[in-house]
Amino acid sequence: MIDLQGKVAVVTGGSSGIGLATVRLLLESGADVALCGRDRQRLDEVAAELVQAFPSRRILARTCDVLQPGQVAHFAQTVQSELGDATILINNAGQGRVSTFADTDDASWENELKLKFFSVIHPTRAFLPQLEQSEYAAIVCVNSLLAAQPEPHMVATSAARAGVMNLVRSMATEFSSKGIRVNGILLGLVDSGQWRRRYEQREDASQTWEDWSGSLAKRKNIQLGRLGRPEEAARAIVFLATPLSSYTTGSHIDVSGGVSRHA
Ligand code: NDP
Repeated sequence: MIDLQGKVAVVTGGSSGIGLATVRLLLESGADVALCGRDRQRLDEVAAELVQAFPSRRILARTCDVLQPGQVAHFAQTVQSELGDATILINNAGQGRVSTFADTDDASWENELKLKFFSVIHPTRAFLPQLEQSEYAAIVCVNSLLAAQPEPHMVATSAARAGVMNLVRSMATEFSSKGIRVNGILLGLVDSGQWRRRYEQREDASQTWEDWSGSLAKRKNIQLGRLGRPEEAARAIVFLATPLSSYTTGSHIDVSGGVSRHA
């Protein structure tokens, strides 16, 4: 495990699922961590648990909607004044949209494209001056395998994800002269808030999570036969966020359990 003592990491959408697992792993590695989300109650609950579990770390949990540039700028200022300059930025906040081409109207397209692009653009812009101060800086964008392997039932999410994968490569090139690495991960299906919410709405209430997610894995042709765990995504994120991957930029790690059909 790498020692991140004295480093400040920022995780958007750090109050649940993959973001929260990443926050925990960064804290375990010694970093001070700032996290944001929109739901204050959930943030407060998570922050209380984290402070208890990691009493020697500095933890900053703030409400911030990554689609609101003013809120993101304020969050960045708060991080800088309370923790110091961020050296790691994890652009994780977001969710997917289930809809086909036939049932996606213009407003839904605009919302989805806005969410996927600006959840990366706003935090990156706001934290860039801080990241530039470090020789150690890295940005990781949490993306989906849909970027490379679109699914017709998630048409807008797939197209937006492909755009973000392209954006990661452009930012990696542009920021290389500032010493900032930019990479992404391509997720398959990971057990988190999104899937737990779909499980709660299952047709057959007698199905356990194991049965429900096992048959989902079979239907989706996941080679490892199960959904991923948030910690498994977090390990790939932390690898890309630290000098463990010091010679890697503009690239993506597949964390899909072998569901990818692309090399
Ligand atoms: P969760 O629903 O468990 O967590 C999402 C987090 O993002 C929450 O903390 C949520 O907090 C926050 N969030 C959502 N929208 C915003 C916003 N506008 N501003 C700030 N925070 C926001 O989902 P996951 O952990 O599964 O998802 C993490 C990322 O991984 C997402 O981008 C998702 O699309 C992506 N992903 C997940 C996959 C999976 O199978 N789980 C597959 C492919 C991609 P709050 O609601 O309080 O704002």
